[in-house]
Amino acid sequence: MLYIVQTNRPVKEMSLLPFNKVQCSKDDYYRWVWDTVHKAENLYKTLVSHLHQDKTFLSLLKKLDKSIEATQKEMHLTGVTDECADCALHGEGTCCGYRTGYKCDSILLLINLFLGRPISMQSNNSEKCFFLTDNGCFLRARPVICVNFVCGRLRNKFPHKQLVHIQEVAGKEIDALFVVEEYIKKYLLLSANL
Ligand code: SF4
Ligand code: SF4
Repeated sequence: MLYIVQTNRPVKEMSLLPFNKVQCSKDDYYRWVWDTVHKAENLYKTLVSHLHQDKTFLSLLKKLDKSIEATQKEMHLTGVTDECADCALHGEGTCCGYRTGYKCDSILLLINLFLGRPISMQSNNSEKCFFLTDNGCFLRARPVICVNFVCGRLRNKFPHKQLVHIQEVAGKEIDALFVVEEYIKKYLLLSANL
């Protein structure tokens, strides 16, 4: 499965906001993110004892963790990680803008908690995503757009074939994330109907 984002627009012009949140002020955004984090933490408290005994869930979670590892390894080996670090420090200044945080819903943050990544706000820069650290993204499981985004700088720097290969590896992570998300959603639905 290929996920290359085809766009020639400069990074700063790209809006990653869902349509209905375009009009939000930054205060609304902060509140929304905090609410989402608290919701994820509450869900975790409710579900942890059940799902930690669920062999199917644990196996899907392990598969996701391995696929995240594979994507990160590939990005590191090919030099994408270094390119992004250089971009953040000396270039456009990273594509991890504050609006991307809208993509981090409570189920995604809950999955991060199950992957052993306690959620905390990292960035003090109000223009950047809450989960951005000096060493890159704080989250283990990231939103789809963050996993599959290929900007113009990367397209100019790396051969198309190499980018396609990275996207194939990243596609497995995205598929594994989708399966875990769906499993949790179904679990929540079934629990609500008990
Ligand atoms: S994906 Fe592109 S814009 Fe984003 S940090 Fe990497 S090089 Fe910079
Ligand atoms: S990669 Fe991480 S820090 Fe960057 S926008 Fe996505 S969630 Fe935020």
